[in-house]
Amino acid sequence: MRAIRRFTVHPVLPEPLQPLEELARNLLWYWNEPTKELFRAMDPALWEATGQDPRKLLSRIDARRLAALAEDSRFTRKVAHAYQDLTDYLTLDRWYQDFAAQHPGAPERIAYFSAEFGVSEVLPQYSGGLGILAGDHLKAASDSGIPIIGVGLLYRHGYFRQYLDAQGWQQERYPLLAPFDLPLTLLTENGEAVTVEVPLRQEKYRAQIWVAQVGRVPLLMLDALVDGNSEAAKAVTDRLYGGGVDHRLAQEVLLGIGGVRALREYCRISGDPAPTVYHANEGHAGFLGLERIREYMNDGIDFATAVELTRAGSLFTTHTPVPAGIDRFPRDLVADQFRTFAPLPLDRIMAFGTEDYVGGDRGVFNMAVLGFRLGQRANGVSELHGAVSRRMFQGLWPSFDVSEVPITSVTNGVHHKTWIHPELLELLESPTSDSDTVIDGYDWSGLDRVDDNTIWALKQQMRGGLVRMARERLAASAKARGLSGSTEWVERALDPNILTFGFARRAASYKRLTLMLRDPERLKRLLNHPERPIQIVIAGKAHPADNIGKGLIQEMVRFADAADVRERLVFLPDYDMSLARPLYPGCDVWINNPLRPQEACGTSGMKAAMNGAANLSVRDGWWDEWYDPKFGWEIPSVENLANADQRDAQEAAALYEIIENEIVPRFYTRDSNGMPTAWIAMIRDIMSGLTPKILASRMVREYTERMYLPTARSSARMAEGRTAQETAAWKQRIRTAWPQVSVSRVEGLDSASHALGSQVSLHAVVRLGELTPDDVEVQMVMGRVDDNDEIHDIVTYPARAGDAVDGGVRYGADVRLETAGSVGVTCRVVPSREGLATIAEMGLATVSAD
Ligand SMILES: *Cc1c(COP(=O)(O)O)cnc(C)c1O
Repeated sequence: MRAIRRFTVHPVLPEPLQPLEELARNLLWYWNEPTKELFRAMDPALWEATGQDPRKLLSRIDARRLAALAEDSRFTRKVAHAYQDLTDYLTLDRWYQDFAAQHPGAPERIAYFSAEFGVSEVLPQYSGGLGILAGDHLKAASDSGIPIIGVGLLYRHGYFRQYLDAQGWQQERYPLLAPFDLPLTLLTENGEAVTVEVPLRQEKYRAQIWVAQVGRVPLLMLDALVDGNSEAAKAVTDRLYGGGVDHRLAQEVLLGIGGVRALREYCRISGDPAPTVYHANEGHAGFLGLERIREYMNDGIDFATAVELTRAGSLFTTHTPVPAGIDRFPRDLVADQFRTFAPLPLDRIMAFGTEDYVGGDRGVFNMAVLGFRLGQRANGVSELHGAVSRRMFQGLWPSFDVSEVPITSVTNGVHHKTWIHPELLELLESPTSDSDTVIDGYDWSGLDRVDDNTIWALKQQMRGGLVRMARERLAASAKARGLSGSTEWVERALDPNILTFGFARRAASYKRLTLMLRDPERLKRLLNHPERPIQIVIAGKAHPADNIGKGLIQEMVRFADAADVRERLVFLPDYDMSLARPLYPGCDVWINNPLRPQEACGTSGMKAAMNGAANLSVRDGWWDEWYDPKFGWEIPSVENLANADQRDAQEAAALYEIIENEIVPRFYTRDSNGMPTAWIAMIRDIMSGLTPKILASRMVREYTERMYLPTARSSARMAEGRTAQETAAWKQRIRTAWPQVSVSRVEGLDSASHALGSQVSLHAVVRLGELTPDDVEVQMVMGRVDDNDEIHDIVTYPARAGDAVDGGVRYGADVRLETAGSVGVTCRVVPSREGLATIAEMGLATVSAD
């Protein structure tokens, strides 16, 4: 029989155990080892059976066991202690409170929008790196006391669960999630669910709001499965990245438009102040800007002014340098959706997402372009990705040098308390914070004081944990696949003493899952070396519609199915956080071989590194920035090679060579006590040298200092008096008058050759038409020139206004010639006004005529 309704009956906890409700509801338990230990101790077998989920544990635990625990004073004391810990965590000042006291204008609230959040496997609302990053962002913000509110969707089936058929082809399951089984609370008022209205083309529907408490940070999750909604509306939040373009558009409208409305309801009910910073994590949330413009207009503010107010408080983070990874919708679909989004004019909405630049496609609405146009600040997620993004989106700022494109970068980080093996973290605990190497209560140089034997024994234990987990999953998978023959080999799969490599990530083509299979015989020799073997653990899901990715997985699984490989190379299905957490600590080396520069940052290598694993990676994403031979190896990237097949062949050959000639010898060379001293020294170097950089706390503090604080200040300035109206009017005047701005040739460089280090006086006559010198900045721009007279690596020198000459003003600057070779110069006029984030903000510039 099929149940027509599901519900959960919660046992009533005896009085001394009642704090466990709150301890299970706040996801802090996930990164707080003592609390986790408390739940585990209640019933270790049930703890494992529920997938280490305290909510499920409390709802299923035997009543007699509960009664016994309530009588156990040692246990109840621990409960009281854990509860006190939670209260302290939620109420005591942390890093941000000190920061805010020292920085006037620091935001009181920051809204962080993302289509996915990977906070914990008990709340499976993520597909991969983007979601895990968003989860780590919230957790680290919470630890640092940064007042963030997360906004996302609650997908009733989450992302799919992966399993394999006998042929190794990926299969998908979408188990239904019951919100009452999840660590969520429905936002209610007077006992009624609070809902917001959301547009769905010409229809309207209502969404309710679930709140997950992530330490100090509330995460609002919108849910369209509400009685009274049409079937089409209910389906909006069925799956993450599940349907076609209209489904996706409907989800993004719910996230952006519904998300702002949900935020308003949450703040109204909780009494929280409204956020002054709106952070869109990737383009999916871009419509939030439209809703904010609409709010201002409903308050009687004109469109142009509303745009200025919205822009000043918005920050956009782009996450992919792969054009196919950018969210783009057919224009008609977007127009159909926003036709009735009064009082916003439809043509203005459409203009925000138009690719009206060279090479752009006029038929699409581009969510990244929308993000840049509605966010005064923007960033990529590693230094290299910042540079690649500036090139990729330069078309939006055509008169500016690539280096001036207003996209900066904040390199991602990972949340140490989620990802570091608890016993390794324990070794780093520091009683004092007096040393430079102590961050967040841990001494990242702590292993320098730990002897080789202890470190190696722990590493062995971490590898052992991975081996146990892998065997359990392999056994289950072999059974599910219905493989013929004995599965006894599973008991011999992997070995805690063998050099262990990890490779796990989404099976997107650019990540080249199967590169290591390029020369299968060579790989087999490495795996089955009689004295110095290696083993490899692989995992990853392909998007359900991605048959190429599924083909790659199948190729890998078939290779791993062979009798002479299967004990040394394993593919573990259903990569998620529960698989990932024991995986990283168990690895000695983490492999990443994307097609450079398509990996925006990549965080899995960071998670491995903070468990003492070396990286063996193409210098892409974060590894380009922080690669050091002390922390691992670089797979040379031959990205200039046009032939993709040759490129793969060369990069694969380098991969094998490094493993064979460098990694294997270092791992297996032992001293008289059997210790791989050089390897252990590398572990210490990674922990002390690399880990402090890759912490998510470093990332969120960098966001706070470099992005949130300036955004909050811009937003406040813009809201003062008539600043926004004046800015909007000024921009309008500038745009109208700009065609009249012109610049004469630069004078002052009379001879063709000048001595390095000499100083020259440069002049140009600038005609401003209806504008005044106060409206602009005039610059002498100098740099290396190429064969087409294009200037590169530019340096700018502000020029001063001098005498009026016929119809214009003479501007001049003294410039020192500091680079040798072919140098070019020009004079440029850009709009200038207090409150512009960069000179490129309006995208307008005029340079010297020939
Ligand atoms: C870290 C992580 C990712 C992201 O891995 P990348 O190599 O950065 O793409 C994806 N899925 C899970 C479960 C992870 O833990």
